[in-house]
Amino acid sequence: MKLLDGKLVSAKIKEGIKQEAAAFLASTGRKPHLVAVLVGNDGASETYVASKMRNCELVGFESTNIHYPATISEDSLIAKIRELNADEGVDGIIVQLPLPKHIDPERITEAIDYRKDVDGFHPVNLGRMQRNLPCFIPATPYGILLMLEYYGLDTAGMHAVVVGRSNIVGSPMSILLARNASPGNCTVTLTHSRTKNIKDEVRRADIVVAAIGKKHFITADMVKEGAIVIDVGINREISSETKSGYKLYGDVDFERVAPLASWITPVPGGVGLMTIVGLLKNTLEAAKKSIYK
Ligand code: NDP
Repeated sequence: MKLLDGKLVSAKIKEGIKQEAAAFLASTGRKPHLVAVLVGNDGASETYVASKMRNCELVGFESTNIHYPATISEDSLIAKIRELNADEGVDGIIVQLPLPKHIDPERITEAIDYRKDVDGFHPVNLGRMQRNLPCFIPATPYGILLMLEYYGLDTAGMHAVVVGRSNIVGSPMSILLARNASPGNCTVTLTHSRTKNIKDEVRRADIVVAAIGKKHFITADMVKEGAIVIDVGINREISSETKSGYKLYGDVDFERVAPLASWITPVPGGVGLMTIVGLLKNTLEAAKKSIYK
């Protein structure tokens, strides 16, 4: 078993991003600028946004966190997004999900200018991704591709099984792995809560991507010997063993699955760190206007 080491790979890629940000500053007189909009007081969301802001600073980006109470109206939020769309000093805009129930995430996603949509959730980016055209790719699947690329893993011809079909992870991951691209060129099975015999499906996988949100859902009896195992899950449990007061678990039973896998991502220290890299790369591209003019 070999580890797909998010710590190592993210540090290396971030070093390159930092150099590019410095070159951008030297030529334009300003830093790439990411604005994150956070609504309400979800603990996990606050942690993610803080980490995104910290990483922006580390690579020499400007970052702004706009934090609204959960009571903000949908129209006010959209008005703010329109203001950010028009602001030439803003390169990338993300609105942290989930949003309070009275706000429609689809309306918010579509309100963001697709040229600043560094989360890659806008239908224009999604459509272009499906057609293999330059676009912003959602950060988590993008980070996974960068990880596979870093380790030189050729996925062509593999049978990929993606577990979970969310708009932000499972669904785009299935599209990306099926594309005529590298990494890609897989035969893809996309599974979800209505899939029959999910164990049998996963057992056939040469590469499995677990994005379910259930601790240790993928057990050793579901994994074929030699498979590549990508664990997206972040399941937080309260713990007295850690300083933060909680412990993170993946969707994969790492201890028992790792001996069978050819390559595997740990949690923490795997996909989560690569997600940040995906977001930083998208923000840099947005600033450089290398995808959209
Ligand atoms: P969602 O809750 O949006 O989607 C979960 C998916 O899993 C759904 O498609 C659901 O199916 C499917 N599912 C749920 N239960 C089962 C089951 N028993 N059998 C088969 N499929 C099932 O989650 P996300 O995609 O947003 O996130 C998944 C996990 O990844 C979470 O732990 C999240 O915290 C983590 N995450 C990690 C990131 C990172 O950077 N590492 C980034 C984003 C998320 P159905 O559609 O039928 O309901």
